[in-house]
Amino acid sequence: MRILSVSDSDITLAAEALKAGLLVAFPTETVYGLGADGFNPAALARVFEVKNRPRFDPLIIHIARLEGLELAADLDSLEGEARKKTGLLCGGLWPGPLTLILPKRGAVPDLATAGLATVAVRLPDHPAARKLIARSTGAVAAPSANPFGRLSPTRAEHVRDQLGDRVDLILDGGRTRVGVESTVLDMTGPVPRLLRPGGVPREKIEALIGPVDIPGPSAGPVNAPGQLKSHYAPRTPLTLHRPEEMAVLEYEAGAGCLFFSGESRDRWLRGIPGAGPFPGIRVLSGGGDTTEAAASLFDTLHELDRLGLFRIRAEEAPPVGLGPAINDRLRRAAARS
Ligand code: AMP
Ligand code: MG
Repeated sequence: MRILSVSDSDITLAAEALKAGLLVAFPTETVYGLGADGFNPAALARVFEVKNRPRFDPLIIHIARLEGLELAADLDSLEGEARKKTGLLCGGLWPGPLTLILPKRGAVPDLATAGLATVAVRLPDHPAARKLIARSTGAVAAPSANPFGRLSPTRAEHVRDQLGDRVDLILDGGRTRVGVESTVLDMTGPVPRLLRPGGVPREKIEALIGPVDIPGPSAGPVNAPGQLKSHYAPRTPLTLHRPEEMAVLEYEAGAGCLFFSGESRDRWLRGIPGAGPFPGIRVLSGGGDTTEAAASLFDTLHELDRLGLFRIRAEEAPPVGLGPAINDRLRRAAARS
């Protein structure tokens, strides 16, 4: 495995590698992706192998520009209203952390979509990612560059540490800006369905296209890992707590606490006799902002996971903005503990 920069010449090199069927991890605004040429079944098969990802779990195809959408998706087979809404979303929220589920084109291998008649497509808001995709085949499958079920990578070092030589190249673009995965929205039914909360808040989507459905736990087959109960998990067992519970936790040496805001940490500290130090205490956003908290979520969990704690206690985020995406990740991280 080689780590490259996001210089122009390194991106060109990485694009050639993709075209040759190699796997290239690269930064997007959400998390680092494990990229493979979206039209190359052998390279796609390696993505599943390297991540140890079940074959029933379809990949997101990343494109470089809006015109590239038709490489993977067949918009003509969408019903009129859905097509109009798709246009509004692409125009208003792309490039950005929004993945759309659309009717699939024949050119996309079944492996990429786990045999479904639909395909997941996203136009990332990251200059290096888009250059890389544009210089390869224009359609790059890229799930998060981590072993299946583990913490998503927000830095090149996370990819190196978790995948090592199982990946051919890593483009190092520093820490990712949004920090949680894309919102996944299914456009193929009568009403758009939000399959996974993510980097674009529901409010922003509904402001553009009106109400979306949020399928309940009983709504049909699992077709997104966002819907698998255990996911995004650190090695350290994690428990999720409401703010009221978090405020009155007793201090336990060797346990970590992940507070949502500086205010909630201070409230807890006021109830603790003595002044620390408390090595495993972290705050997602000093000012209690859900966008800032999402950006530091996986980064902070990676950091806590390296401290050898016996448990991490995490505080729920408020259910606004990117709060639902944060709570979704924390709930699934807790599901295996
Ligand atoms: P990841 O790339 O690991 O963040 O996950 C990609 C997400 O998109 C997963 O939740 C997938 O199951 C979901 N996804 C991809 N393709 C489809 C599809 N055709 N229908 C529904 N969900 C999909
Ligand atoms: Mg993932």
